[in-house]
Amino acid sequence: MKTEIKLIKNGKRLDGRKNDELRPIKIEAGVLHRAEGSCYLEWGGNKVLAAVYGPREAVPRHTQNPLRAIVNARYNMAAFSVDDRKRPGPDRRSREISKVISEALENIIITEKFPRASIDVSIEILDAEAGTRCAGLTAAAEALVDAGIPLKDIPVACAAGKIEGEIVLDLGKEEDNFGDADLPIAIAPRTGEILLLQMDGHLTQKEFDKALDLAIKGCKTIAELQKKAILEKYQKNMEG
Ligand code: UDP
Repeated sequence: MKTEIKLIKNGKRLDGRKNDELRPIKIEAGVLHRAEGSCYLEWGGNKVLAAVYGPREAVPRHTQNPLRAIVNARYNMAAFSVDDRKRPGPDRRSREISKVISEALENIIITEKFPRASIDVSIEILDAEAGTRCAGLTAAAEALVDAGIPLKDIPVACAAGKIEGEIVLDLGKEEDNFGDADLPIAIAPRTGEILLLQMDGHLTQKEFDKALDLAIKGCKTIAELQKKAILEKYQKNMEG
């Protein structure tokens, strides 16, 4: 990645954020009626819908694991979610993201409770503006909670990165395109266990440590929003 535009002007980022500031995030749990659990999430310019189906009998049968449930997360970017022309349907990037999100969720769901079952998670990116894998995983986690799937913790994701030599939290679109590095992670906030870690670009060991610390801080802030959203859903149900 090469810096072609000035990403920091007068000490501020293009959208006016400080280096350790997240974009605005809104989380709503239980937005769909047919799915067992669901979530709608807005994160900066990203709009994401996640839905959970299951645990239900895994089909085809040869995919069943007699000891635990399998977890299939499917990340899909809507053809209208980006500026450039995008072919609808899966591509290499969405397969990769589906795989890493499935693995992250599988590590936190108590899958031993549901032998031979599958837990299916759909993640639909309706509007994309950088950081969609983090937004998608965070929404998927909320949908799992909404579905009542037993979890060891509520996973949460956030990225940090490097722009113009500085370590910053939660890269925006231009920062992602023209910055030096992007480090998306997902953690189990209670224990700090890392469930997903990817890196695009280059960081020194010192920069990596700083970015990781910052991304963990971001995750912990978002974890509070996840908890608030699920409480709000139950409060609304009790009132209505
Ligand atoms: N993007 C795009 N077209 C694509 C894939 C990505 O315009 O086919 C944009 C989109 O805004 C996305 C950003 O590039 O959020 C960064 O993509 P990346 O692969 O780094 O994943 P993300 O940051 O969304 O997890």
